[in-house]
Amino acid sequence: MAFTYVIEHMEDDEQTPAAIPPWVKLEYAHMRTLAGPGAQIHFTSLSKSSSSFLSTEFQSTSESLADAQCHQLGILDLMKSHGISLDRVCLLDPKAEKALSPEDGGGTFDWFLFGVRSPPFHILQSPFSQSTLLTLTAPVVHGSSGHSRYLSSSSLASPLSRLIDERTNERRFRNPSDDCLCQFIGDDPPRDRTSELRVLGFPNRHLGPVQMTTDTALGVTKLVVQDKIPLEKIPYIDFPTIRFNAKESVEMPFRYVVEKDNEPKLPPGMRHLLHEDLNKSFDF
Ligand code: SAM
Repeated sequence: MAFTYVIEHMEDDEQTPAAIPPWVKLEYAHMRTLAGPGAQIHFTSLSKSSSSFLSTEFQSTSESLADAQCHQLGILDLMKSHGISLDRVCLLDPKAEKALSPEDGGGTFDWFLFGVRSPPFHILQSPFSQSTLLTLTAPVVHGSSGHSRYLSSSSLASPLSRLIDERTNERRFRNPSDDCLCQFIGDDPPRDRTSELRVLGFPNRHLGPVQMTTDTALGVTKLVVQDKIPLEKIPYIDFPTIRFNAKESVEMPFRYVVEKDNEPKLPPGMRHLLHEDLNKSFDF
């Protein structure tokens, strides 16, 4: 039996001209493959422009892909329009007490709900030079991936060195050559954005102690509830380093399902996007 998955798009994306960042688009498209034939994915709480953009992106159908529908409605209104009650929707929540199990696919739930929001991102110019505080939105600086999570220790081969502020847990990167201190504030460590959905009172389940990307979380949910594979039998890789060449790599602060050769299962096109963004990030 195939299931219904709901992705609550928790962005105020009326405010941003580039409403759906490319990395989000790749993750959303990947979900259709991971959920598989017969499944249904609802993308909810989209702005009018994001909804029409994604609907166009998802026009192509294939027997191997889940059906995708884009909505301006939020999760609660969508449930109402489908006659689904709160107790039939399982929120995938890293803070849930119970782990998701194959039995949860046996009639307890009709829908599985996930939250998506990209983190804010700031650049702080060094107090050591003419200091100006710049607060930039993610897509401006980070190009299409928009995630500080894509810049992490191993990507900072010279000339950047990495400093972590232990008190605030913010990642700080110092570029000694131009005396620029850059501060990246991302979702690593996780900042419990799922809480906005949790307070609505859905029953919830976790997928283990490590934060996954949303497409990974959906793929793992499908493996558990539809394919009946227990969580602990799924092969994972945590915080993988994606290498582009001898000097460039990024460390991803997430858990992924492992593909062949111990590689993380990334959305098609993500590797290329990460490499492109890595180069863009150092151009300021
Ligand atoms: N940083 C966010 C937080 O801490 O809530 C989580 C963002 S995660 C990339 C996006 C969504 O994937 C979450 O809202 C949750 O639905 C799901 N998810 C990711 N990892 C999970 C885990 N270990 N257990 C349960 N759900 C998870």
